[in-house]
Amino acid sequence: MLEKKLVIIGGGPSGLSAARRAAEAGVPVLLIDRNPRLGGQLIKQTHIFFGSEKQYAKTRGIDIGEKLASFVLNNPLIEVMEDATVVGLYPDKVLTVLKENAYLKIKAEAVIIATGASEKVLAFENNDLPGIYGAGAVQTLMNVYGVKPGNKILMVGSGNIGLIVSYQLMQAGVEVVSVIEAASRIGGYKVHAAKLKRLGVEIRTSATIKRALGDKQVEGALVISLDENWQEIPKTEKTYQVDGICIAVGLTPLAGLATMVGCNMVYIPELGGLVPERKNGFCTSIPWIFISGDASGIEEASSAIVEGELTGLEAAASLGYLHPEMEKLKTELREDLRTLRSGPFGSKIRIGLQKVEVFNV
Ligand SMILES: Cc1cc2nc3c(=O)[nH]c(=O)nc-3n(C[C@H](O)[C@H](O)[C@H](O)COP(=O)(O)OP(=O)(O)OC[C@H]3O[C@@H](n4cnc5c(N)ncnc54)[C@H](O)[C@@H]3O)c2cc1C
Repeated sequence: MLEKKLVIIGGGPSGLSAARRAAEAGVPVLLIDRNPRLGGQLIKQTHIFFGSEKQYAKTRGIDIGEKLASFVLNNPLIEVMEDATVVGLYPDKVLTVLKENAYLKIKAEAVIIATGASEKVLAFENNDLPGIYGAGAVQTLMNVYGVKPGNKILMVGSGNIGLIVSYQLMQAGVEVVSVIEAASRIGGYKVHAAKLKRLGVEIRTSATIKRALGDKQVEGALVISLDENWQEIPKTEKTYQVDGICIAVGLTPLAGLATMVGCNMVYIPELGGLVPERKNGFCTSIPWIFISGDASGIEEASSAIVEGELTGLEAAASLGYLHPEMEKLKTELREDLRTLRSGPFGSKIRIGLQKVEVFNV
């Protein structure tokens, strides 16, 4: 069995930032990611990011990912294991990792879970027809592999992800016939919606998908209007001729490893689903397990980076390694988080975080 000081699961913005700060404190780190390339969600984000300039906003997501990965790849204290999936995490501090069809056992003194999020699905008739994708899959096809997911797409969901992926589809030469939204107003930022409207894309609120049409693959979608109680309004069905349907109805924290090892879990709707309770900062109910980024509550890359840095410092300190600038960094990073979560868009997160007993940032 391999023995490691600190294992970080997930090489997205949060895991990369945690690895950087922990290694700066002097901890040897093993960073594991199931993808062949570091960066997490950022590797498919071709758009210029919003958020805070300190966390690289106004830069393309893919470039932010490369910048964060460069800190890790240039630090000799950080070992990177790519194309490797952590499939088990156990109370005796052992992880099972699947790599190249073999199972490895690793014993860790501390673990940071930074596994990100998975997409929520939607129940409707025929929702398993080929041609129905999650927004993440559409982005991976287009922006990582250069494959068009279809020629005419219906987007379901008008949050930022639905709006941004719609725009990216149009950039790739795909027609977005409509963006439908069950709520009575658009969920994402006005700036993203305005870009689509300028391109002539319909954004239809108070409407949902009732059925996917087609036999062997998607040939259309039946959409129906909803009243203020979310009930279908009879005789408002409209058929859209499409060869693809993209579902962008939100993300949920990918915290299954925390459940598996026995962390106390709580369902917090404002954070996107089931997340571990956090006792001090980013420590879970199990003192050697830490969690950060979307795995601990759905937010954005900016906050995933800052949380990752704080978690790296905290996990290092738990192992007796103090970063030379720890107190200064912690004060600055907590202030950054407070700023990122201020204002009306941060209110949901603030409420959710209070429920998991996070420190008062
Ligand atoms: C379309 C879209 C647009 C966005 N736009 C913005 C924006 O403009 N500004 C902004 O700030 N944010 C934006 N975001 C959000 C941002 O991308 C995420 O919040 C951020 O990537 C979360 O970082 P993370 O490190 O927590 O998780 P992720 O980036 O999801 O990384 C998690 C990593 O963990 C790995 N992993 C998961 N499970 C395992 C396992 N069992 N074993 C090994 N590895 C594992 C995954 O392969 C992945 O690399 C956008 C997201 C999307 C989808």
